[in-house]
Amino acid sequence: MSKAKKKKEGISRLMELAGTKKKGLTAACTLSVLSSVFKIIPYFTIYGVLKEIIRCYSAGDKFAFGSVSTLVIITAVSALLYGICAYSSAMLSHGAAFDILYELRMKLMEKMGRISSGYYTANTQGSIKKLLIEDVEQIEVFIAHSMCEVASAIATPLFTIIVLFIVDWRLTLVSLLPIMLSFVILGMALKKPDGAKHQKNMADCKAKMEGTIIEYIHGMSVIKIFGGTKKAFRRYETDMNAFTKSVHDTAYYNANGMGLYYAFFGAQVLFLLPAAIIMLGSSAGYADVLPKILFFLVVCSGLKEPLENMMNVSIDSTKINVGLKRIDDLLEQPEITLIGEGKTLTQFDIGFDKVSFAYDGSGIKACDEVSLNLPQGSCNALVGPSGGGKSTIAQLLLHFYEIGSGSIKIGGVDIREVTHSELVKNIAYVFQDSFVFSDTIENNIRMGNTEASFEQVRAAAEAANIAETIEALPDGYQTIVSDSTGLSGGEKQRIAIARAILKNAPIVVLDEATAYADAENEAKIQDAFSKLSKGKTVIMIAHRLKTIQNADNILVMNGGKLAAVGKHDELMDKCELYRDMVNANDRRDSWTMRRLSYDKA
Ligand code: ADP
Repeated sequence: MSKAKKKKEGISRLMELAGTKKKGLTAACTLSVLSSVFKIIPYFTIYGVLKEIIRCYSAGDKFAFGSVSTLVIITAVSALLYGICAYSSAMLSHGAAFDILYELRMKLMEKMGRISSGYYTANTQGSIKKLLIEDVEQIEVFIAHSMCEVASAIATPLFTIIVLFIVDWRLTLVSLLPIMLSFVILGMALKKPDGAKHQKNMADCKAKMEGTIIEYIHGMSVIKIFGGTKKAFRRYETDMNAFTKSVHDTAYYNANGMGLYYAFFGAQVLFLLPAAIIMLGSSAGYADVLPKILFFLVVCSGLKEPLENMMNVSIDSTKINVGLKRIDDLLEQPEITLIGEGKTLTQFDIGFDKVSFAYDGSGIKACDEVSLNLPQGSCNALVGPSGGGKSTIAQLLLHFYEIGSGSIKIGGVDIREVTHSELVKNIAYVFQDSFVFSDTIENNIRMGNTEASFEQVRAAAEAANIAETIEALPDGYQTIVSDSTGLSGGEKQRIAIARAILKNAPIVVLDEATAYADAENEAKIQDAFSKLSKGKTVIMIAHRLKTIQNADNILVMNGGKLAAVGKHDELMDKCELYRDMVNANDRRDSWTMRRLSYDKA
């Protein structure tokens, strides 16, 4: 049986993602290693100078600068080269990190445009945001800083130990002994049977506490209205206490092991001094032993930092693995099919042929063997009870999802043979919840056609019945849309319609766009729709049945099936479901009228 190719992780996966920037990154790491060498050399030369001073002192000679001048020059040059290498390494690694980040973000964005919309249903907005911002950012920090630190964290202790061995192998072994012991203790502490259980408990308590905080903030208005502040706060307090307890438990559990680890890790002096006393007593003489002891005391205390860095880097690399996995998960999502090179659409009639589709994991057919034919330039209304499959039809036409069986054609061309950009260029979609970006109103409308002049933007706003409202704002078309702009839902809806009018696409899809608008807004929106729809192939997902009675085709969707097709009068005759819906709508409208006149009285 052939083994599946093992997926790369950590640094090797990062190097894969680095792509063309790998060379820059390798150069940065090499320079970082070189900088570690130049950082160690001065310790060695200073040891030489020290040795010469003590030799002169014990021999009663006059100290001559000439005897150490070469060492001093080497020290100065090394310090200079250290600075140059460290600086160049940081510049290169930061440059590479931002280039890699740019490429990765573009890759993720492009990928997001090519995958099925099911991904967005399965993953919350929060988790996608976390992926695109935090996970990618973490990679930048790792590449720009930690990656070179890895190189230096390995090289520095290695070169230091080599230098220590050159100076005196016995003192080297003595100073390494406590470090070795501390690592053994750490290993034993990490392997303790309940360690993982404590860590998991701490992570679970933290996640629960964060969940409660988010729920508390989101539900604040409801909590206030129903006076549940104290109760909700008590839950938050309980979760916070549980988290604090889990942190204490974990800390106590690890206290002995970690305490011993830190005690040994920094205890070289305790081991070095007795060894030095023994060496001094056993002949070698002060002039030889003293500079060595001083050298070891200074250098060994500096060994702690790079060794700790080495451990931190290995912790960091485990952390980025979680983010890398999420990034890979997105990069590996199956893409929406494109058969061939991508055809151009020239005709705009719409045909569904026995189309069936179920959302991932739902098991229910949201679209069940649906066949329909909508002529170019016709106005078509999709009606039916909630959950009937109306929005699904619209989303399938946009190729947001891959259908299970059947085919969808525009102008006789299967949408799987059309690129995403060609498809969306020809369809204007006004969503139920129109999204307005936090940008100027002009730019929000211009998104429909980036080439449009300001006059065209204005004309679109006028056609959408929103120009007057925009011009009444202090900054007019330059107003940045935000929560404080004070635009109502209906007004935002009309900005979205202006965007669609400017796009001037031959197919228009309107999704229950007037469902929640007030009477005045609805009239304005309806008027804007008429202008947007003129001469286009229109699919309108209708909530208010009165507005679609003149449609060329009314398609009744129920339980994912196309229950009936026809004009209003035909359907009133032959389709019981449609008749019931129209009657229910009439009753609701007259109830609203009665209620309004009662309120006014
Ligand atoms: P309508 O627009 O007529 O209200 P939809 O097309 O939204 O109906 O829904 C049709 C069916 O598909 C319903 O059973 C609904 O619960 C289900 N559905 C809709 N969107 C999703 C989704 N993103 N994931 C899973 N099921 C969905």
